[in-house]
Amino acid sequence: MDNYARKAMSLDEEDTLRDFRDQFVNDTDLIYLDGNSLGKLPKRAVDISARMVEEEWGGRLIRGWNEGWMELPRRIAAKIGGIVGAQEDEIFVGDSTTVNLYKLAFASLAFQSGKDKVISDELNFPADLYVLQGLIEHQFNDHTLKLLRSKDGITISGDKLRELMDKNTALLVLSHVAFKSSFMYNMEQVNRTAHDKGALVIWDLSHAAGAVPVELNKTDSDMAVGCTYKYLNGGPGAPAFLYVRRDLQGKLVNPVTSWFGHSRPFDFELEYDPASSVQKFAAGTPAVLSMAAIEPGLDLVLEAGIERIRNKSVRQSQFIIELINDILPGHGFRLASPSDSRQRGSHVSVQHGEAYRISRAMIEPSDNSRIVIPDFRPPDNIRLGISPLYTSFADIHYSVSRIARIVENREYERFGSEKPWVT
Ligand SMILES: *Cc1c(COP(=O)(O)O)cnc(C)c1O
Repeated sequence: MDNYARKAMSLDEEDTLRDFRDQFVNDTDLIYLDGNSLGKLPKRAVDISARMVEEEWGGRLIRGWNEGWMELPRRIAAKIGGIVGAQEDEIFVGDSTTVNLYKLAFASLAFQSGKDKVISDELNFPADLYVLQGLIEHQFNDHTLKLLRSKDGITISGDKLRELMDKNTALLVLSHVAFKSSFMYNMEQVNRTAHDKGALVIWDLSHAAGAVPVELNKTDSDMAVGCTYKYLNGGPGAPAFLYVRRDLQGKLVNPVTSWFGHSRPFDFELEYDPASSVQKFAAGTPAVLSMAAIEPGLDLVLEAGIERIRNKSVRQSQFIIELINDILPGHGFRLASPSDSRQRGSHVSVQHGEAYRISRAMIEPSDNSRIVIPDFRPPDNIRLGISPLYTSFADIHYSVSRIARIVENREYERFGSEKPWVT
């Protein structure tokens, strides 16, 4: 056993979150480092989903709405609020992250009429930029989208952000943790800078919620969106959430004026009258089955506590970086995430000219090596996601050693560069 294997073993022994791993459905042949893209299945979600389908949908039919389905989104909202530092009545759960961002960005630009500048950064998730581009093309034609550039492809400078903002800045849309490099903004500082100029901020928490401490209220955040299928383990395509600060709720309009956002949906009035609460941001009927499947993942995060999760995540990402620096040099790899953990989320990216084929070899070993699932982001990033609730230090040690072996033995040469639909 080498020194790092021994170190991994003792870190796992000391780990107070170690037992959470058994709360998930695990395949022992497989090391999963992609919880930042799709979290694992909590065992309790299997039972809950089966019960919801058989007993509630199958047995109760329409009566289910009055036997708990209507309260379900509020209960989930309260739990998400507990994870991101917001009040229950500031969170709406439903729709996708993209749709929620569209609703809030529309509302912000309508509210900030007279200001025509929208700011994001080039490390942001492209879908978020598409939403802003579409809004400007189809609705807010006078607006321009300015993208903060990254000097190193990894971080965004706070000074550059301040320079770009002026009194015409209506809105900032930023990912708290960048999907590729894992760069993490200082939320409080950005909010303060934006508010000084009278700009609103929408945070995308998709790569943050459940992985890093988020304090929406304490940092004076205006709005946020985020998904539940990454570190919150809510299941593929699970309903997303949005947050709107209480005092902004009355000022913002939802461009999707739906009956579930009406103040009295079951009066079936012909005139739209928005709910006064955050419920006005609904865009239709809640997805009850997938909503119910989110709850076990949230409960696990709440039981573990975000501080303990973050603490382990930092130690694990430091361990990955230590291994990358020690085992991978000479193999053509470069760390593509911030080396300072205060600026880093819960995944670590490495770059390599053969990143795509290396990630294929990790997923489809030709010998009896264990399968390691990372993900690939073009052009040359391998993302190694850490989900402290189920990732062990031994997993990390095995995975980095496996990457080194693949490159040493040129195992990636078995693969072509054609890509499947989802990477
Ligand atoms: C995963 C992710 C999304 C996903 O949006 P969908 O509407 O669920 O497709 C959005 N933004 C960021 C930053 C993400 O990481």
